[in-house]
Amino acid sequence: MTSHPTAPYRLMAPGPVPLPSKVQEILSLPMIHHRTPEFTAILQRCLEGLKPIFQTQKDVFILSSTGSGAMEAALVNTLSPGDEILSICSGKFGERWTKMAQVFGYKVHCLDVPWGKAVDVEKVESYLKANPQVKAVLCQACETSTATTHPIEALARVIRQTQPECLFIVDAITAIGAMPLPMDTWDLDIVVAGSQKAFMLPTGLGFISLSERAWRAQEKSKTPRFYFDLKAEQQANKRGETLFSSSVSLIRALDWVIAEFNHKGLDSFIRRCELLADCTRSSAQSLGLQVYSQAPSSSVTAIQVPDGIDGVALRRHIEEKYAVTFMGGQDQLKGKIVRIGHLGAISNEDVVASIRSLGLALKDLGWPHFNEDQLTQTLNSLKSRLTC
Ligand SMILES: *Cc1c(COP(=O)(O)O)cnc(C)c1O
Repeated sequence: MTSHPTAPYRLMAPGPVPLPSKVQEILSLPMIHHRTPEFTAILQRCLEGLKPIFQTQKDVFILSSTGSGAMEAALVNTLSPGDEILSICSGKFGERWTKMAQVFGYKVHCLDVPWGKAVDVEKVESYLKANPQVKAVLCQACETSTATTHPIEALARVIRQTQPECLFIVDAITAIGAMPLPMDTWDLDIVVAGSQKAFMLPTGLGFISLSERAWRAQEKSKTPRFYFDLKAEQQANKRGETLFSSSVSLIRALDWVIAEFNHKGLDSFIRRCELLADCTRSSAQSLGLQVYSQAPSSSVTAIQVPDGIDGVALRRHIEEKYAVTFMGGQDQLKGKIVRIGHLGAISNEDVVASIRSLGLALKDLGWPHFNEDQLTQTLNSLKSRLTC
């Protein structure tokens, strides 16, 4: 793909995302040992620097795993086999967390939400009222597989009002850095993130933070754990180390990303995602396409593939002819949506080129509603909005 003869390759997936050139540069630095004063200083800066990004005063941990490892850490550090939990399930990532929780022997009640819709907060409230034994609620802030957000602040409020000690565990892997999610202000108990989304890094780091309430649950939790033992991780961090070997290259690049967040402000990253998401939605609509989600996210947009067009073929065509990678849908959405990511080092030109490639690919595949003037107009207004 990178050696495409006519066009630069554009990675427009909701993770992994295009890397800033500075990140690529740092990743290629010579290796240093993780037990050196140089690396210890970097690690400590990262551990402190993640707190304002999570908007918490609590410790944030860096795990050498993908985001799913941090999702596992959230469960095994706070729950015990037999515990009842409520999992809000609105797509592939909700399903993954549900299955994971079942593996550890928790009794999982799955609240199925139609794909593309936000969860009904009242349903969560009535379930918790009827089931006061529930120990935790799991939810994606953004269900990346359907590009849909859930009302995390409102959920946190009803959980707290109905059940003071029930944990609210949030998968914020495509939310942190892309949408507001102040952990302490909203009183979230566990927040999980990953490196290959808004953190603009390769896949391989998971991040997690626990509230005071979650640490109380940690003391009682009886699930066996070894690699993801956060109490042990916390003690190691106090010594300036990670519990196991540190992912030196990724953490050095993380140090730069955190400095960027601090320098430009978390808000400016969030606003950038919101802008790109809004531009993508309005461009799609102006081409005569529909946005799939009823609660669209600012980290990824799902566009409905029009009737009569095979979404799998469309995506393959866009990749082969225009060198742009979008994601598709899975299961019931296979061939029905294309997902365009807004995270990472995406330039304005990338956004324009990806909308152009979507329009042209629909023309190539013979979509009867394709209109050349409409595409020109859409691209012109997109360019003027993004001033490029
Ligand atoms: C990417 C992602 C994950 C984590 O996936 P990994 O492949 O383990 O990094 C989890 N939840 C959501 C919502 C995601 O977007």
